[in-house]
Amino acid sequence: MDEQARIREIYNRLIQTRDAQQWMPTSLSHFEGQPFKALIAATLSAQTREENTNAAMANLLALADTPEKMAQLSDEQIRTAIRPVMYFEPKVRYVRDIAERVTANGGVVPNTLDELMAYKGVGWKVAVLTLAMGYGINDDITVDVHVARIGIRLGLVKPTTKQPPKVNEELKQILPRDMWPYWNALMVQFGRAICLPTYPQCQKCPLNNICPKVGVK
Ligand code: SF4
Repeated sequence: MDEQARIREIYNRLIQTRDAQQWMPTSLSHFEGQPFKALIAATLSAQTREENTNAAMANLLALADTPEKMAQLSDEQIRTAIRPVMYFEPKVRYVRDIAERVTANGGVVPNTLDELMAYKGVGWKVAVLTLAMGYGINDDITVDVHVARIGIRLGLVKPTTKQPPKVNEELKQILPRDMWPYWNALMVQFGRAICLPTYPQCQKCPLNNICPKVGVK
């Protein structure tokens, strides 16, 4: 099997397994086509477990579901709402900054990486995620710990590559374009269900016979 055929096989097997096992959708998939909510959720999700991001978003949106309303919340209201997420203290400032800037921009969230990354607390990953979820712009592949770890294990990314933008570049060179929009969510789901961080379940993995298991002990 050549490398492109192997990659297609990886993708197809994972899609089939996801559908058969009904893997949990990712939290940001709730905000597809809603750029402001996607941006806030992506910002809150940094270093945070999925269920805590969901809880914080539910709290926050119950108080304010538009940039204008969110900009009018007090810091204490935002703090109480987003307390479930990691590093909630700086994220209070990020939420306020985003809400105020989007409000000042007529309620429109920017749709370029550079503009988004000019916002407080918005790094490359949050910006890529926001473009993908909010606008359906998939010029890059969102790289998180699951995408990076599994990319190495599958032999798609060099084991020495650490920086998310570099992982993205390596993946884009070998993954067909039609997979880019779905790769992040698929890896997150697969990384939670089977290719776990510490104890990957290789014996029951649908990719067992086509995975080089790079770095797996
Ligand atoms: S075979 Fe093991 S290392 Fe490879 S993708 Fe599956 S669980 Fe991960």
